[in-house]
Amino acid sequence: QAQELSEAQIDYHAALQALVENGTKMVCTGRMHTDRICRFESLCYSTEAEEFVYFHSNSSVMLPNLGSRRFQPALLDLSSVEDHNTQYFNFVELPAAALKFMPKPVFVPDVALIANRFNPDNLMHVFHDDLLPIYYTMQQFSDLDLEARLFFMEGWSEGVHFDLYRLLSNKQPLLREELKTLGRLLCFTKSYVGLSKITTWYQYGFVQPQGPKANILVSGNEIRQFTKFMMQKLNISLEESSSEEYIIVFSRTINRLILNEAELILALAQEFQMKTISVSLEEHSFSDIVRLISNASMLVSMHGAQLVMSLFLPRGATVVELFPYAINPEHYTPYKTLATLPGMDLQYIAWQNTDREDTVTYPDRPWDQGGIAHLDKAEQERIIKSTEVPRHLCCRNPEWLFRAYQDTKVNIPSLIQVIRQTVKSKPGPKKQKWSGSLYPGKVRDAKCQASVQGTSEAKLAVSWQIPWNLRYLKVREVKYEVWIQEQGENTYMPYILSHQNHTFSENIKPFTIYLVWIRCIFNKNLLGPFADVLLCST
Ligand code: UDP
Repeated sequence: QAQELSEAQIDYHAALQALVENGTKMVCTGRMHTDRICRFESLCYSTEAEEFVYFHSNSSVMLPNLGSRRFQPALLDLSSVEDHNTQYFNFVELPAAALKFMPKPVFVPDVALIANRFNPDNLMHVFHDDLLPIYYTMQQFSDLDLEARLFFMEGWSEGVHFDLYRLLSNKQPLLREELKTLGRLLCFTKSYVGLSKITTWYQYGFVQPQGPKANILVSGNEIRQFTKFMMQKLNISLEESSSEEYIIVFSRTINRLILNEAELILALAQEFQMKTISVSLEEHSFSDIVRLISNASMLVSMHGAQLVMSLFLPRGATVVELFPYAINPEHYTPYKTLATLPGMDLQYIAWQNTDREDTVTYPDRPWDQGGIAHLDKAEQERIIKSTEVPRHLCCRNPEWLFRAYQDTKVNIPSLIQVIRQTVKSKPGPKKQKWSGSLYPGKVRDAKCQASVQGTSEAKLAVSWQIPWNLRYLKVREVKYEVWIQEQGENTYMPYILSHQNHTFSENIKPFTIYLVWIRCIFNKNLLGPFADVLLCST
């Protein structure tokens, strides 16, 4: 790799002179360390100190210039996991003049994206924390193209899924350990530091019990643009119109087993009259699994990281997640949240083993595989008697681990019944038309006219024009919502109307000022923005 870097043609002398004269330039986006990504010119890294270095000169720039707030707690998150105290980025500062006394810098000519992977051995973490955020960080900055190079600073070795990271750029990603072989002082000509969190949908429970993120900003469309890219890189063409429909049972072979898998496969095949096949990460290549999943009608699997692969399912397919005894499906929803993202167009079904007879526990295993033998007797007793794991924080709750690593004999009739509540006929990919939801614009030219009849009655005639974009759309149902509020009051009267004008007479008083708010609604739930408020005096 050292060779690979130095092969690129750069004028070493000029680069060194530029570094000494110009120092480091940093300009960032984001107001907080949790939403910040920084672009650098001439950011350096000392492989001996294992620290990034910012060189001050007459031309250096540092925006934001936070002073010591840069350490409270950090300049930015290096991984996509929010505010995790093992994932912070910062640099140390030096005058550019100090370069005279330092090891000769080695320049990195590629545009670099510098980040941390969060947990590269777990497939859910790989996709959710790393691959999707890296892909969309690269989409955000145009010089992070396929010729950019990824630098992973978390300190892990490649890990079992490194081939997936390789797909994101044409250059081999480099790990922190490998930087040592390149030199003592590395200087990145152009680099971006940090990852976009805009695609993440789940928080793992570091500060509150795990669950969907509070403000999810990604839809199925962006997930599917990413999977399309990955499949192109894996040389998997989207379905060769192979007509045969099938169900996949994604099994685990080491732990959290389905004990009656053969019986389950037979039952699914019989019930849905479909070929049913079993795959596992241990027995199939990643590409084979993607190829199979991308054409499947249904994916059935134990709760676990392998279920993140449902992001490769075709629209209209069904995800069935199986939960071991005492694990409440509502409390562990990374895959449910994914499947039910707007526009993902997947059906999600959770089944839980509620029968103690059908579970096999492993109290004597090591703690990280769910063993509880290290706990005191009373606590062991309590856990074994408990019928539901109470909500808990990540990541070492022994009761959770004990239940999570049980094996399960799936009660076939109960599972089929749960699936049948949702999947009435044949499951399967729907060749549905594009159902993207578009929102109305503001209504236009809103007007009101008042008329007073005597001292106690008045009328308010309000009219408006359709939103501009409606002219170019086919919308099944167009309605208007009008709120009439007496000036100075907190309450308002809401109306839903089908036409572009209406005369209000109920509760309208003479010699009063009314505020009138109007917005358009497409198909019952696509609410547009309110037009500028109308002031109407009767
Ligand atoms: N894994 C697997 N087969 C197994 C057990 C684990 O393929 O029998 C994979 C799993 O999909 C994940 C990684 O190994 O990518 C770590 O699994 P772990 O049980 O620690 O995490 P979880 O699946 O509960 O997120």
